Amino acid sequence: MGGVVVSNATLHNEDEIARKDVRIGDLVRIQRAGDVIPQVIEVVDDGERAGRPAFAFPHACPRCKSSAVREPGEAARRCTGGLVCPAQRIERLRRFVSRAALDIDGMGEKQVEEFVGLEWVATPADLFRLAAHREALLQRKGWKQKSVDNLLAAIEARRSVPFDRFLYALGIRHVGEVTARDLARRYGDFDAFRTAMQAAQDPASAELAELQAIDGIGPKVAAALVAFFGEPNDVKIVDDLLGELDVAPLVWEVKASAIAGKTLVFTGTLEQMSRDEAKARAESLGAKVSGSISAKTDLVVAGPGAGSKLKKAQELGVAVIDEAGWLALLGKGRACPVSV
Ligand SMILES: [Zn+2]
Repeated sequence: MGGVVVSNATLHNEDEIARKDVRIGDLVRIQRAGDVIPQVIEVVDDGERAGRPAFAFPHACPRCKSSAVREPGEAARRCTGGLVCPAQRIERLRRFVSRAALDIDGMGEKQVEEFVGLEWVATPADLFRLAAHREALLQRKGWKQKSVDNLLAAIEARRSVPFDRFLYALGIRHVGEVTARDLARRYGDFDAFRTAMQAAQDPASAELAELQAIDGIGPKVAAALVAFFGEPNDVKIVDDLLGELDVAPLVWEVKASAIAGKTLVFTGTLEQMSRDEAKARAESLGAKVSGSISAKTDLVVAGPGAGSKLKKAQELGVAVIDEAGWLALLGKGRACPVSV
């Protein structure tokens, strides 16, 4: 097709398969969308369709047998097994050691896979017990005394972890870096947060209402948090971890800055940092970040592609700076969340 041999064509998701009524064994017509991605357009009626079975999506994870559910509004069906699912274990361990999480030097995808394969590591807490395998690791190809010592030292250095990093590292759905930081700022320390999440299991609780009322926490995030702290397997993993490390409370240090107390709006594209990071930086400088422009807006940071918001800011006479101006502002009064 267009000079290439197409062996796979996308059907997008469960809904599309149902909509196009594609069944196992069907003959289909395909195209290459944008001359690149092969996709199924329609089923060709070859007169033998009646007896063909429709594809049934699994309701249990093929790896761990936990239920596989499709949440309302989501295209994908997901295993609910969390860290008990071997397929999810590796991905979640990778997140746990990643830069925005525990940031363990020398522990990447390759090492996680090696240790999981050897059954030395199954849960995050096992990483802190890796020293028990020191001698065996030294015997392995690719490992020398220095690399083993460095890795074990890097792990030891993470026996105390800031609350926000710890929360992000747990790999709770919908809880990214920014959400983890928002939660850490609101609750201060992990014990208080956890107690609140346990109380929030009761749908009528004040704790749940409080959680849902936090700026930036939608019903989806709240539901994911409640589910996580109501799931015995996840709670066990957290308890096991707390036996190995301390979670340091987050102390939000707001430095004096030109934008403290001001309301900022970001619009257009930022090239030097993500929108989430820009928001976190602005908040660490004591500013409030809003999604829309009003008479209350003090400053607009406009990158390329800024459209109606920029126009509105100009109409209202709100100060507008570009990304370079924003970076200069950060240079003047940089502050960051610190943990003690
Ligand atoms: Zn699974």
